[in-house]
Amino acid sequence: MSPSPRPPLDPGIPSPPGPDPSPAPSPTRALDPAVLRRDFPILQRPVHGRRLVYLDSAATSQKPAAVIEALAAFYQRSNANVHRGIHTLAEEATAAYEGARARVAAFLGARDDEIVFTRGTTEALNLVAWGWAGHRLRPGDTILVTLMEHHSNLVPWQQVAARGGFHLRAVPLTADGRLDRDAFSRLLADHRPRVVALAHMSNVLGTINPVAELARQAREAGAVVVVDGAQSVPHLPVDVRRLGVDFLAFSAHKMLGPTGLGVLYGRRERLEEMEPLLTGGGMIRHVELQRSTWADPPHRFEAGTPPIAEAAAFACALDYLARLGMDAVAAHERDLVRYAWERLRQVKGLTLYGPEPEHRGGVISFTVAGVHPHDLAQVLDGEGVAIRAGHHCTQPLHRHLGVVATARASFYVYNDRDDVDRLVEGIERARRLLADA
Ligand code: PMP
Repeated sequence: MSPSPRPPLDPGIPSPPGPDPSPAPSPTRALDPAVLRRDFPILQRPVHGRRLVYLDSAATSQKPAAVIEALAAFYQRSNANVHRGIHTLAEEATAAYEGARARVAAFLGARDDEIVFTRGTTEALNLVAWGWAGHRLRPGDTILVTLMEHHSNLVPWQQVAARGGFHLRAVPLTADGRLDRDAFSRLLADHRPRVVALAHMSNVLGTINPVAELARQAREAGAVVVVDGAQSVPHLPVDVRRLGVDFLAFSAHKMLGPTGLGVLYGRRERLEEMEPLLTGGGMIRHVELQRSTWADPPHRFEAGTPPIAEAAAFACALDYLARLGMDAVAAHERDLVRYAWERLRQVKGLTLYGPEPEHRGGVISFTVAGVHPHDLAQVLDGEGVAIRAGHHCTQPLHRHLGVVATARASFYVYNDRDDVDRLVEGIERARRLLADA
């Protein structure tokens, strides 16, 4: 199937996913988080009497009013099921949904028919594990993951390996929380993995893996490269052709979009090779009582009624990010992380995990001697500062770090240095209240 033409949109749907509306790349403009915060209704509410400082965007981001309005506008004006409908609303709904696909493709430098909508990163990775690896690998083949993976990019591979008789191996980390490149090269040479599945950015260590280089190495060794982009696509400029990966998974809700929607980018040849996980309406070409054939990708992988309103609203989120410029988003977070790193390392008894700021994105995990991360998060909540505490769906990594839980602060476009100062004040207060009391 050739890339779907971009259909006309009803003008009532806000932020139509037309041609890339991002301004021509100009010298990176600095973001002004205090101004951007006005676009986010939830950031106007106080928590425990203080301005909300939201430092949990790695779990899910907040949404600008334009995205919330796009979701409502779809239901108010254009709600109908997609495809096959011959009435105005069905055509508008289809245009919104397929237009969102084109918008995602443009954002990533992909073709429209390389974009599969899923429920999220987790579903996208399961689709690759079962639909591609589960059918293409043979008993004895190796799947290579890393020690820093989120459970979403580990457990599906464990499951498919157990079912198919594949070996699962993990790339170890250096002492500062980066991938051990020598070990990676050795594992490629010794085991010739058929799949290399790795995070672009760790949701705990903040490490940004040099995916373009690692993918080139892995492909030269004959592996298909699957990237968990849940923490990178929202925060860094990502171009799938430049990265040279076969699959890339991410979630709309971590990048200003709605919950219940994710994306699997798949290189066209790989999608052709992949079997569907879900079957039923919308994904077939021809059905007889005893057997069926499948539609071409991407529809082959989108059985049932898809998240239409969510896709329309996600297009609006991508427009918002494109207007800011992903270079500017990344530069802003780099600056914030450098500032936070310097401030946090001054706090007595605080241990930082992961590499120096130059190798990381906007996620910082830490522990404070004598204060359980959950207690720390609770004290901070009392100050209106939202962070996350726990294993962040990375139990093997936490075991490797020698802790059961960490506290994690994560940044996005609406955070600034004042937020970091509030975090540090809150940690100091927790220490006074709790540390070795
Ligand atoms: N991978 C990483 C690195 C993540 O941070 C997350 C979300 N915490 C996921 C995968 C899973 O994303 P989702 O829950 O949206 O499927």
